[in-house]
Order: sequence, then structure tokens, then C-alpha cells
Amino acid sequence: MLLSRNERGFDTDILIIGGGPAGSSAGIESSKAGLKVLVVERKKQIGEPVRCAGYIPSLLLNEIGTRADFIIQSVDNMVSILPDGTRHVLRAPGYLIERSIFDRRLYETAVQNGAKYLLGARALEFVNGMVMVKKSDGNIIPIKAKVIIGADGPHSRVSSWMGIKDRSLVMAVQARVPLESSLNNTIIFLKKEYFGGYGWLFPRGDEANVGIGVKKTPLKRPNIYKLLTDLIHQLNKEGIIKNRIVNITAGWIPVRPLERFVSNNMMLVGDAAGHTHPITGAGIYQAVSGGRMAGLIASRAIKNNDLTLLMEYQREFMEIFYDSLKRADMKRELMESNWKDLNNIIKRCWIGFREYYHES
Ligand SMILES: Cc1cc2nc3c(=O)[nH]c(=O)nc-3n(C[C@H](O)[C@H](O)[C@H](O)COP(=O)(O)OP(=O)(O)OC[C@H]3O[C@@H](n4cnc5c(N)ncnc54)[C@H](O)[C@@H]3O)c2cc1C
Repeated sequence: MLLSRNERGFDTDILIIGGGPAGSSAGIESSKAGLKVLVVERKKQIGEPVRCAGYIPSLLLNEIGTRADFIIQSVDNMVSILPDGTRHVLRAPGYLIERSIFDRRLYETAVQNGAKYLLGARALEFVNGMVMVKKSDGNIIPIKAKVIIGADGPHSRVSSWMGIKDRSLVMAVQARVPLESSLNNTIIFLKKEYFGGYGWLFPRGDEANVGIGVKKTPLKRPNIYKLLTDLIHQLNKEGIIKNRIVNITAGWIPVRPLERFVSNNMMLVGDAAGHTHPITGAGIYQAVSGGRMAGLIASRAIKNNDLTLLMEYQREFMEIFYDSLKRADMKRELMESNWKDLNNIIKRCWIGFREYYHES
């Protein structure tokens, strides 16, 4: 039996909604602490389908402590191409990973530590202190938890249960394409057409992920698939990629961290908390780091029978990430409001330039 039954439904110490990097990282730490942990994940298979370009900074690898068989290749530099065509190279060591394997390794570690997963199960609503979960067989089960961790991504339901409505999101579309020859750098395309976002080429062995992120506003509804096709044609003409698309994926990326991500017995982690970097959109590192922090602190709060301790997670996360996320948030505002003048503003707003760090 996965769960213990109470008179109205099922009980657990910690209910984690979402089995991505943030949810499984929270699951690893809280099950290690000996608590009863249930993760509900709407996908039937952890990590599939992949909606990610798969870049992680070297730093993350030292921290996760699982088998690192998800690494496809390393990269040394990031090449940024400005709107006027000039190129700028920055040292940015990191890895391109197979995201589906990465997510599975975290899941396996959580399971080894004792966390239980309900796959193909979707959290629907929060009623009378219970989370209603629809299982893959169509049955709805009510679950009561001492702490609920929302790790349910950019369109987080848990955040809406906490009263959070407005979220700032960038839409992203990405194609897997064969490379003409291997690369050891990522390439970033900064163009006026990509309002509030950018284009990328991230190599992965003999293939690459080529993608575009663009902000949709009531006034600007860009045809993102056309922009992606144009970029692919350009890269093919330049002899960088072959003229073939292996697959296409699309997704959403939060670009504004939430000010509040703990409330009563609920905590938000990863994309659900808007913890992606507002300029680059990278969020795997913060999802793993924040997930672990939330799992540990939730366990401590339950053991001490004091849920006010959950606020420690918000404080601790901000202590580590505030400077980087706040700076990026300010730069995004500057960049979006001066978009017409992108060529002149870009060095102050893109992480590849010294100017980005030298002004507050
Ligand atoms: C195209 C694209 C490219 C990206 N490239 C990079 C990159 O190169 N590097 C990087 O660092 N970041 C990248 N990101 C961002 C990165 O993917 C996220 O920051 C990261 O996945 C966050 O992890 P998470 O666990 O918070 O959320 P997710 O990985 O989104 O996991 C959330 C999980 O919750 C589940 N879920 C949602 N709702 C429910 C529900 N109601 N009930 C049950 N389960 C639910 C979902 O199925 C999902 O598995 C990219 C994003 C996109 C869209």
C-alpha cells in the first residue's frame, strides 16, 4: 500500500507535486530525513518528453551526487552574436546533458531513499485541506499532507492555491538538428526579432539543440515557429548545421522570480517559484538547489512540529540567489523597455559582457 488511509482519504508527511529536478531533489532530502514522502507526477514516465536545451554549469555536477551518465559533452565557451553581427566570446564551462536521464537519476535516488512516486497522476485542486489527485485509472484520491511542495513547473497549480496569479513567462521552441561538425561552445543569437528573449545553439555530440525564446505580450504575438525556421535556414546556409530536423519541442520559461514562495504549509520550488534566471532562462541549477533546501527544511519543520520554520527556505534561498536573480530581473526590465535600442543596450543586459556585472 502506497499510502496510509485516514477516514477521509490518504495521509503523508510531505506531498510533492511534480517529479522534475526540483520535485525529485526535494524528495531526495526529505526521504533521507526519514519522513513519509509522496511525489505525484502527471507524466507516465519521468523525464519524457524533454523540454529543455540541457545546459548545466560545471558547478552543478559537483553538487548532485548521482551517477553522471547523462553528460553528452562539455563546452568551454559561450559565443554571443550581437544584433549588428559582432561576436563576443566568454569562457563559460559547462555540460550538455541528456535531460531525460538526468531527471531519472534524481528520481531513482529519491526512490532509493524511500520516496514513493505516483506516476500518471495529476494534482487537480486543493479542497478542505486535501489535495485531489486524479490517478491514471481515472480515480480521484484526496491526499492530506503536513507539508505540500509545489514542484509543478511554470504553470504551477500549487502557486494558484497560494493566491499567486500573474506570472511572467517566455515561450520557447526548440529543434534538434544534426551538426556539420562538432562544437565545443554554445552560441547565443541576440536579435531584435526575439523580443525579451534570444536564440541559441547548444551542441550535443553530432547534433545540436537550436531554439528561440520570445516574450509574448498583448501587443506582440510573434510567430515563433517562423523565427525558428529562419534561424535554422541561416545556420544551414552558414554550414553549421544540416538541413534536417530530428524533432521539435516547445515550452514555457518563467522570467520573474516570485516574491513569496512559502505560505502556510505550502512551498514552491524550481520553475513553480519562478526561480529560473530572468535573463538566460536557465533553471536546472536553482531547481536542484532550491528543491534540496525545501526538502530539508520541510523535514525539520515537521520533526519540530513547527511549520513557521518553512519560511527558513525562502530566507536561505534568497541569501544564496538574491543577488544574481535580482540583477537579472532589473536587467530584463531595462532591456525590455529599451528594446528599440537593443544594439546599444545589450552589453549592459546580457550575461556575456563585463558591463552586465559592473552596474547595479
Ligand atoms: C525549451 C527550453 C529550454 C531550456 N533549456 C535550459 C537549459 O539549457 N538549462 C537550464 O538550466 N534550464 C533550461 N530550461 C529551464 C529548465 O527546463 C527548468 O528550469 C527546469 O526544468 C525546472 O525544473 P522543475 O522541476 O522546477 O520543473 P519541471 O522540469 O517543469 O518539472 C515540473 C513537473 O511537474 C509536473 N506537473 C505539472 N503539473 C502537475 C500536476 N498538476 N500534477 C502532477 N504533476 C504535475 C510536470 O509534468 C513536470 O514533470 C529550459 C526550458 C525550456 C522550456
